[in-house]
Parts: sequence; C-alpha cells; structure tokens
Amino acid sequence: MIRPALVVTVLVIVTALAGCSFEPEEKIWEISGPVFGTQYHIDVVLTDDPDQLETLSSGISDILDSIDASMSTWRPDSELSRFNNADDQSQWFPVSEPFYEVLAAAQEISEFSQGAFDITVGPVVNLWGFGPEARPNQVPEPSLLENRLQSIGYEKLELRSDPDSVRALSRQYLDLSAIAKGYAVDAVAAYLSEIGVEAYLVEIGGEVRVHGRKPNGEAWRLAIESPVDQKRQISRVVALESRAMATSGDYRNYYESAGKRYSHTINPETGRPIEHNLASVTVIADTTMRADALATAFNVMGYERANALAVRENIAVYFIIRGEQEFEVHYTPAFSSYLTK
Ligand code: ADP
Ligand code: MG
Repeated sequence: MIRPALVVTVLVIVTALAGCSFEPEEKIWEISGPVFGTQYHIDVVLTDDPDQLETLSSGISDILDSIDASMSTWRPDSELSRFNNADDQSQWFPVSEPFYEVLAAAQEISEFSQGAFDITVGPVVNLWGFGPEARPNQVPEPSLLENRLQSIGYEKLELRSDPDSVRALSRQYLDLSAIAKGYAVDAVAAYLSEIGVEAYLVEIGGEVRVHGRKPNGEAWRLAIESPVDQKRQISRVVALESRAMATSGDYRNYYESAGKRYSHTINPETGRPIEHNLASVTVIADTTMRADALATAFNVMGYERANALAVRENIAVYFIIRGEQEFEVHYTPAFSSYLTK
C-alpha cells in the first residue's frame, strides 16, 4: 500500500569486497529508506566513489517521491486522488506519462487475468479496511458490499494516448497498490542503468529487480520466503540476472476478526478477500511492474486456474500451497531454470 513517503534516510554500508589490487575495487553499496509505507533496499556495485553514491541516493529518492506524489491513494493531492475525486470522471482527465504507463499495464493484466486483477477494486478494499478509509472492526454489511461491487470493473475505465488521459464510464475509485511498487522498482532500475551503474539489486516491499552480476561474478541470489507469520524462513533460493521477481501472499498483510483471517487481496468477482489454500505466489518476469501485478492476479485466481494460465503462457511462477499437514510447493516449467541447487 502506498502512504506518504517519510524523510528518506540513507544508510550506506559496504557489504562485500572483490577485485584485485591493480584495479579500482568494486564493492556492493547499500542504499535504503522508507517509502510507500514500506522500505526500499538497493544494492549498487560501484568502484569506491562516495561522491557518486550521494548523487545516486538523492536521484533515487527524487524518483520515489515523484511516484508517490502521483500514485498514492493516501495523499489527497496525488494525481490518483485528483482523478478519484474529480467532479466528472466521464471527461478525459489528462495524466502524466508514468501514470498512463501504469494504468495501461494494469488494464492489460486485467484482461489477461479475466478481471482477477482490477485497479477499480479500491472501494471494496476500503470497505474491508485495507485502504485509507478507517479499518472496520467487523465484516462489511452485505448490501453495502453488493452495492460497491456492482459499480466497479476495469472495463469501465477508458484510456487515450496523445495526450495521455483517462476517463470512467461510471464513478470509479482507483487503487494502484498492487502495481505501483513494481513500477517504482523499474523506474529506479532504469535510472541506475541510465547513469551507468552496471550491476544492481532494487527492492521495494518484497518486489525486486536485479541487473548484472555481483563483484565476485555470481548472479544475484534471492530468497523466496516460507509463508509463516512470525519468523522469516526461506523456502527456496533463486539466482537471477537481469530479471524481476514479485510475491503476493496472505501471510504478512491481513487482519483477524472473530478468529478468521482476512487477506488484503480481494477477489473482484465476489468482493471478498481471497479464501483458498494458496499461501503465496511468486512470479519472475522481465519487468517488476508485470511481476507485481501478475502475482496478485494469480493469487486471486487460485492455484488451479493460475497454474493452467501460467503454464500455457510460459510464465515463471512458484506457488506455495497450504496442505493438510505442511506447505506444498509447485512451480511452472518456466520457473525451474531459476532455482539454485
Ligand atoms: P501483495 O504483494 O500481497 O499482492 P500488494 O501490496 O502488492 O500485496 O497488493 C495488495 C493491494 O492491492 C491491496 O492492499 C489492495 O490495495 C490492492 N488489491 C487488492 N485486491 C486487488 C485486486 N484483485 N486487483 C488489484 N489490486 C488489488
Ligand atoms: Mg504485489
């Protein structure tokens, strides 16, 4: 979820050393801070040059600030909130290029997933207490839920390029929380590549993108967590080079009411938090935005439907399923090449 960014603190530590004494040493430098109500962690491989690091840190926080200022539901002055509160949404509403890019990608994933992913689900998210509206302490009233469900739907949104704009056929309230983090990771990655950083890892709230290799020549290694509530436990490790990975799971962000667990991922068909035995879905893709949105889409679809679609489309997906006794793991053929021994 996207909340106002706090003042960004930059923590710089040297985490690894490599290279021989005749060349400038390459090191991994870590830059991190709070963003969108979560944290970002960035590893950049650089030779020893602290000046460049300062430029990088401020460049990164400028990018993240501008995405937050555009796509946050928590900020009343964001581009997103201005559209959500527009007097007449049936009029074309001009949007920035990044905002348009995210809307277009969201719509594509909605079609691809037959509506499992849907950014118009915002009013229902809020009703269950996961948005900027106050968190209710009970399950929503059925008629209110039905009412909100009737009015939503990605097909009620229209996009137009040149000039980039959006409009809605009926009143909508958009929520970009399931795609904007991924977009932000890609934007930071593009910036790093542009200024000549050849190897990096960018992570925001569990959505990751890597490029190049570590100073010791190894691929970046990323852990897929086991979906246990309290402690951090690794299910598998993947090795990636120039790829993105995102996970959607019900084990970190949920609330309990009368002993029942409610996920923050909503099935737009029923208007209810997803309730199946899929504990987490991890997707590897070319862009983090796509991986992020697909992970949520597959999570909504449930294992059977999601697996069939992912296999058919050759998408790399790793499913963790709550079995009777323990977790079961399934992955698509496209995923296997990323698994380390
Ligand atoms: P996860 O990584 O667990 O999927 P995200 O933060 O990426 O978590 O996305 C979850 C958020 O997306 C929810 O808090 C809600 O704001 C929004 N959301 C919930 N259900 C859907 C859906 N079906 N389609 C698109 N966005 C959704
Ligand atoms: Mg996500």
